[in-house]
Amino acid sequence: KPVTTDMKTLTEEIEKFAEGKKIEIDTLKIREEYRKDFLGNVSHELKTPLFTVQGYILTLLDGAMKDKKLRQKYLERANKGVERLIYIVKDLDLITKLEVGGLKLEREDFDVIELIKNVFDLLEMKAAEKDISLTFDMEYNHPIYVNADREKIQQVITNLLVNSIKYGYPNGTTEVSVENLIKNKVIVRVTDNGEGIPKQHIPRLFERFYRVDQSGSRAEGGSGLGLAIVKHIMEVHGEKIYVESEEDVGSEFSFTLEKAANKSAKSTSDSN
Ligand code: ADP
Repeated sequence: KPVTTDMKTLTEEIEKFAEGKKIEIDTLKIREEYRKDFLGNVSHELKTPLFTVQGYILTLLDGAMKDKKLRQKYLERANKGVERLIYIVKDLDLITKLEVGGLKLEREDFDVIELIKNVFDLLEMKAAEKDISLTFDMEYNHPIYVNADREKIQQVITNLLVNSIKYGYPNGTTEVSVENLIKNKVIVRVTDNGEGIPKQHIPRLFERFYRVDQSGSRAEGGSGLGLAIVKHIMEVHGEKIYVESEEDVGSEFSFTLEKAANKSAKSTSDSN
C-alpha cells in the first residue's frame, strides 16, 4: 500500500480512538492549557523580584557601596526581594505538591481552639510589628474537637491570619471565632478591620497568583498563592470557604470543618 493510505488509515484510527476517549483528551487539553498558564505565571512572578534584587546589587556595584547609608538601605531592599523569592518558591512547592501530587489527607480528631492558639503564638511577633492585636472570641474558649488534617488546617489558618496582618491597618484587630453550625459542622471565622477588598476582585481572589494590587509594588510581598492553597485544602476536605469584604472596612474569611464523632466524650473529660 502507498504510504498516504497508511497515513490516512492511521489518522482514521487515531480519530476513532479519540472519539471514544474524547472526554479524556479534552481533560488533557485543559491540563496542558493550565500547565502553560501556570508556568507563564511562575516565570513572571519570579522575574519581578529577581530584577529588583539585581537592580540593587548593580547600583551597589556602581558606586553606592561606598556610601554607608545607601549601602545599608540597598542591602535591606535586596534582602526583602530575596525574602519575597523565598516565599514564592515555598508556596510553589506546596501548591505543586497539593495539586500535582494529589493531596492525601491525614485525618485525625483534634481541638481546633488549641490549633488556633498555636498559630497566634507563631504570628504574635509579625502582628506586633504593625500593632495589630490577634483576639479570640472567648465565648468559645473551650476545646472544640474536629476531624480534619491538622497540619493542613494549620496552614489554612496561618495563611488567613498572615493576610489579615498584611492587609490590616496598623493598630487594627484580627478576631478569630469558632461557632457550632447545625448538624456536625463548625465554622471558623477570621475577621479583620483592614483595607478590605473591592467588590470586583472578590470572585477571582482564590485564583493562583491573583492579587488586588497587581503591580506588586506594594510593601507587602507575597506569592499570590496563599488563598489558592487555602481553597485547595478546603476543597479536598469537602468543606466550604467564604469571603465577605468591604473596602476600607475589613474582610471576613470563614470555612467549615466537621466535628469529631466522639467530640462530646472528649469535651466532657477535658472540662472535668
Ligand atoms: P498574597 O501573597 O498576594 O497575599 P493571597 O492568595 O494570599 O496572595 O491573596 C490574594 C489577594 O487577596 C492579596 O494580594 C490581597 O489583595 C487580597 N487579600 C487577601 N486577604 C486579604 C485581607 N484579609 N484583606 C484584604 N485583602 C486581602
